[in-house]
Amino acid sequence: MRRTKIICTIGPNTQDYKSLLRLAELGMNVVRLNMSHGDHIWHSQVIKAIKSINSKGKYSLSILMDTKGPEVRTGDLKHQLILKKGDIFNFTISRQAKYQQNTVEVNYDGFIDDIKIDDIILIDGGMISFRVKNKTKNDAVCECLDGGTLTSRRHLNIRGKSARLPTITKKDWEDIKFGIKEGFDFIALSFVKNRATIEEVKTYLKKQKAPIDVIAKIESAQSIPYIDEIIESSDGVMVARGDLGAELPIEEVPLIQEEIVSQCLASGKPVIVATHLLESMIENPTPTRAEVTDIFLAVRQKADAIMLSGETAVGLYPYKAVSVMSTVAERIEKRVFEDKEINIAVTSDPKTEVARSASILANNLNSAAILVFTRRGYMGTLVSKCRPNSSIYAFTNMTSVRRRLNLYWGVASFRVKFSNNPEHTIQRAVEVLKNKHLFKKNDQVVIVSDILAGKEYVETVQIRRIN
Ligand code: ATP
Ligand code: MG
Ligand code: MG
Repeated sequence: MRRTKIICTIGPNTQDYKSLLRLAELGMNVVRLNMSHGDHIWHSQVIKAIKSINSKGKYSLSILMDTKGPEVRTGDLKHQLILKKGDIFNFTISRQAKYQQNTVEVNYDGFIDDIKIDDIILIDGGMISFRVKNKTKNDAVCECLDGGTLTSRRHLNIRGKSARLPTITKKDWEDIKFGIKEGFDFIALSFVKNRATIEEVKTYLKKQKAPIDVIAKIESAQSIPYIDEIIESSDGVMVARGDLGAELPIEEVPLIQEEIVSQCLASGKPVIVATHLLESMIENPTPTRAEVTDIFLAVRQKADAIMLSGETAVGLYPYKAVSVMSTVAERIEKRVFEDKEINIAVTSDPKTEVARSASILANNLNSAAILVFTRRGYMGTLVSKCRPNSSIYAFTNMTSVRRRLNLYWGVASFRVKFSNNPEHTIQRAVEVLKNKHLFKKNDQVVIVSDILAGKEYVETVQIRRIN
C-alpha cells in the first residue's frame, strides 16, 4: 500500500463520474477544486459525482477547496499572442483597453503603484518575462526578455514582490460559504501571509460549526518570515512551488520545501508538495527523469501528499499521470522503509507517546499493521506523524473523519460502528479488514484503542495475532 497520498486537481478533462472513479481506482486520495477556475454550478456537479462515488463505500475521497485569493492575472485575450524577445508590450489597469494591440489587462488596480522601472514581470512563473521600461497612470510599458505564447488569464508576478491585496477577498468569502454548504473537508487559503488570516477563517468556520480544516498555501515571498506561526495556526500546509518560485529566486524553492516539510513533520501537521511534479505529462505520455526525481525527493522527505494540477485538470494523460505518480511513490517508499527509527521529538503528551509506543512496537516486531481506533481522527493523525513502517488502519464512526484522514501519510481509514464494549468494536474492524483481504491468517498487529476500565476509558496499546 502506498503511504504518500495523491491529490488530483479536477478540470474539464476529469469532471464526470466515470473519470473521477477512474482517478480514484488509480490512486487519487484527495480531490482538489480550484476556485480560480469554474463557477459554483460547475463545482457543485463535480462534488455531486464525488459524493456519489463515496456513497458506494469503497472510497472516501476528501475534497479540498483551493481559494482564488488575491492572485494577479492577466485578462482575456481575443487570440493568443506570440511574443518575441525585444517586443514592446503594455500591461494596463485601464478597464477601457480591452483587446487593444500589444496590450493586456491586469486584474489588480494597485499594479502600477507596486511596480518600479526595471522590475521584472513574470507570466506563469517565468514562461514569459518582461522588464518595465516606463510607467504611466494606467500602463506599464515593458520590453519582452523571454518570449512565448500569451493566452488568457495567466498568472502574473513581479519578481521579489507580493501584491498588496487583502489575503481573503470578497470572492473568497463567497467561496468559503459555498464550501460549507457543499461539505468540503479542507480549504486551502492562497497567498497566506501570516497567522491572522488563518485564524480569521478558522474562527468563522467554527462559528458556522463547519468541520473543515484550513490549509495554508505557502506561495508568497511575504509568508516565509512568518512560517513558524503559519504552521502553528493552520491544520496543514501546502508548498505551492509555482508562485513561490516566481516571487522568490528559484534556487530557494527546494530549500524552502525541505524546511517546511520537516517543520510540518515535527509538528504533526499534514504537508502537501504541489505544482510541476509531472508538468511535462500535460502534453506527453511519459515524464521527464527529473520529474521522477522530484517525486522521489518529496516521498523521501515523507511529505503527506503530492499534488497534480494541470496534469489531471487539463492534461492529455490524466490517468497515466496518476499511475506514474503512484508507482514511483510506492517504489521509493520500499527503500525508505529500511529505516526503523521513529524520529519524533519526545513530548509530555500522553496520546503522542502512546502513538510513538505503538509505532516502535510495530517497527521492531515487523507487524503487519497498526489498527487505530479514533473517533475524531486525532489518534490516527498522531500515529501517522510517527511515520511507522507498517500500514496504519484507522477506524472511526464518522464519515467526515474517515475522509479527512485520507490526506494523512500512511493512513487507510474505515468506518465502523463503535460499540460500548471496545472489544466488540475491534472485532468489527477485524472483520472489515478480513473482508478486504488486508490480513493474512496469523498476522501480528498492534492495536491502539481505548478500553473500559471501571467507568473510565483508558488508551491502550496491544500486540495481538489475528486468526
Ligand atoms: P493556482 O495558482 O491556484 O494553482 P492555476 O491556474 O495554476 O492556479 P491549477 O489548479 O494549478 O491552476 O490548474 C492548472 C490549469 O488547469 C489552470 O491554469 C487551468 O487552465 C486549468 N484548470 C484547473 N481547474 C480548472 C477548472 N475547474 N476549469 C477549467 N480549467 C481548469
Ligand atoms: Mg491559486
Ligand atoms: Mg497551479
